[in-house]
Amino acid sequence: MDSFTLVIVSALASTIMAATMYLLHRASRRTPCLLDWSAAGLSFLASNAVALLAMHAKLPFLVAPGIANVFYIGGHYLILAGVRRHLGLRPRYDWLAGLAAAILLLHTTSFAHGPVASRLIMLTPFVAGINASVVWLLARQPQRAMRDSYLPLLLVEAAFMTQMTLRAVFLALGQPVQLTFLGNQIWQTAGSVAVLTFLSLSTMCCALIVIRHQELALRSASLTDSLTGWFNRRALLDMAEREFQRHRRSGEALHFLTFDIDHFKSINDQHGHAAGDAAIRHVTNVAAQALRGYDARFRIGGEEFAVLITGDGEARLIGERLRALIENTPLLVDGQRLTLTVSLGMAACLADDLQWDEALRRADQALYHAKRHGRNRLSVYGEDILPPQAARLA
Ligand code: GH3
Ligand code: MG
Ligand code: MG
Repeated sequence: MDSFTLVIVSALASTIMAATMYLLHRASRRTPCLLDWSAAGLSFLASNAVALLAMHAKLPFLVAPGIANVFYIGGHYLILAGVRRHLGLRPRYDWLAGLAAAILLLHTTSFAHGPVASRLIMLTPFVAGINASVVWLLARQPQRAMRDSYLPLLLVEAAFMTQMTLRAVFLALGQPVQLTFLGNQIWQTAGSVAVLTFLSLSTMCCALIVIRHQELALRSASLTDSLTGWFNRRALLDMAEREFQRHRRSGEALHFLTFDIDHFKSINDQHGHAAGDAAIRHVTNVAAQALRGYDARFRIGGEEFAVLITGDGEARLIGERLRALIENTPLLVDGQRLTLTVSLGMAACLADDLQWDEALRRADQALYHAKRHGRNRLSVYGEDILPPQAARLA
């Protein structure tokens, strides 16, 4: 392939990158990193456009290769900026301005005015450094659910960095370039082929990251209660089954704790629905302080909640702590301190349970027992309420 064809094809790949990223952003405006990646495509395109112009007209050295190289390295940097934004970091466009100035300044040196090889050696640390930053940022992400989608971009950036560095080292060591017609062509065009491959693959990789991220966000929203941020009833079906199976395999204790706000209707009646919502949020916020980070918590009804408590020994303690904390943390409504209380029921999964919801049903019976015996208390199935009594309640 000759350089002209490669520049045209690279320009096409850059356009596809810019357009794909922009159209994906139009489809879902909640992912601003797509705009950085679209700008990356435009920057690569601008670099190709200057190269094409230079093939047909004599341009000042600071424009071609100077500006062309600024756009080229800017394209790599904008991919990094998008990755940073995606990860919740500042994209740092100020660094891009500094980078552009440094590259232009380097083009005024006599080293830059040497052969093509010297400019390649001069610019490789910038490109390889940007590639390495992307690899480093993606490699240290702890989120298991997203990591698979980061891997392709990580590999593409690592591969590009490696080929760029190898070529620069090869040239810096003064290795003789094979001067056969074909060999020389490959040597000269290898860089463009690498850029072309990089552009095509990174477009797919960036799209993959965004699609995976959106899928996870949707899945999370479908399992989360919007008022409290706790899991919803649908999530309970999944997670309780998983925990129940694990409990059967490992023999580790599994408790269901259910609780319900006492006389909640009167809060709605006296202070309005918004205050009722605030009370629900208050109860879940306070309850969370009594729970351990890994206790899965669910809003299973209007003012009814469930918690999955794994591990031996502590369950009753956790329930008591939760009850006391809510009673002792009043809610401010219209400047008035309102004491809220909850009634709680708890039940362990038993050896002859075939389904997890048998334990949930027992916890509900215990909760009902707590309501009947004065509210603001915890009843534990098998301790405070025995099976014959439960049968009568049912
Ligand atoms: P008990 O002590 O027996 O639990 O009595 P209660 O008044 O708490 O229980 P009841 O079941 O009679 O009333 C629950 C009320 O919760 C009825 C419903 O209007 C209200 N509710 C359900 N969901 C929401 C919600 O999301 N926000 C608000 N503000 N109220 C809700
Ligand atoms: Mg209630
Ligand atoms: Mg209720």
